[in-house]
Amino acid sequence: MIAFFRLLRIIIFAVLFYLLFRNLYKIFWKHKRPNSFTNQKNKTPQIKEEQMKKDPICGTYIPESQAIKYKHENEVLFFCSETCKEKFLKSEKK
Ligand SMILES: [Zn+2]
Repeated sequence: MIAFFRLLRIIIFAVLFYLLFRNLYKIFWKHKRPNSFTNQKNKTPQIKEEQMKKDPICGTYIPESQAIKYKHENEVLFFCSETCKEKFLKSEKK
């Protein structure tokens, strides 16, 4: 039980640090160049729209880079998680 609380505390700290750094980054970025950033965004979109792939198991759309790829009969399938991939593999075996 003590080990569990230790783990929980580590997770909470990790989340807090993540949120803190994210906010600091946002504030810093907005503060530094508020106009040039929005102008740039309108003229040339720097963030490329990633292709979204559909998970055949749960039907969720996932960005290609984050999806779990699996080659199946000459086509590549994209899964949102290992769980969905496993579900697919199990259904294949039947
Ligand atoms: Zn899924």
